[in-house]
Amino acid sequence: MPEPEQSHAIQRLYKTRLARATRPYLARGAGVDRCQYCMLVRHYCVCAHRAARQTQAAFILLMYDDEVLKPSNTGRLIADCVEDTHAFIWSRTAPDPEMLAMLSHPDFQPYVVFPAQYAASERVVNVPNNPPSGKRPLFIIIDGTWREAKKIFRKSPWLDHLPVLSIQAQAFSRYQVRDAHGENQLATAEVAAETLVANQEPEVAEYLNQWFDVFRERYLAGKRQKTLPDRDALAVFITHQARHKADEAV
Ligand SMILES: [Zn+2]
Repeated sequence: MPEPEQSHAIQRLYKTRLARATRPYLARGAGVDRCQYCMLVRHYCVCAHRAARQTQAAFILLMYDDEVLKPSNTGRLIADCVEDTHAFIWSRTAPDPEMLAMLSHPDFQPYVVFPAQYAASERVVNVPNNPPSGKRPLFIIIDGTWREAKKIFRKSPWLDHLPVLSIQAQAFSRYQVRDAHGENQLATAEVAAETLVANQEPEVAEYLNQWFDVFRERYLAGKRQKTLPDRDALAVFITHQARHKADEAV
């Protein structure tokens, strides 16, 4: 498939990280013919339907080392749906200067999105309580396994001064790819959708959740070599989008 005209932050990070991937990593999953943009097996590729929305919220995805290379990663879906999404690979000692510049930029009020019980109580906010006027909320989403995410949260001194937005999950995760430890943590895309709800952007949250459903259904179908249901998540997504566009046109 031809390269999309504009690749987003995670697709660019993927290419950079892939260039220094080790041979054993490349061998894993070899033989599966995936689209390198949506990471689904090629006959389930959904790239033709991808469209990012403009939002009040901006996102930074802070990704653990090889997370960006994993086909099961759902942080990518945030960049698919939210135009102002940035992605960086985490480093404790050498954080990306571009990321640090964003964190201190006067246009943004950054928040680290993480469960309240891991943060000092004075840092915790439940909803972005009126960012100072003229500032946009910048949500930092940590992307990795749960163990890696906790490590990033603990060992990033340059995040320590920022408020923590604690997401109360309204439902258990619908993702069945990474629940090997029975933790049932929300997938990264689900965390971002809950963050959008907290930021009073429920419509985009729903958009992201439906796109997540499309990815999840096709990822699992591709993995288990199953076919899709008659009325698949993409059909639901497309119907919903058509209705949204019609509403906007009125
Ligand atoms: Zn694709």
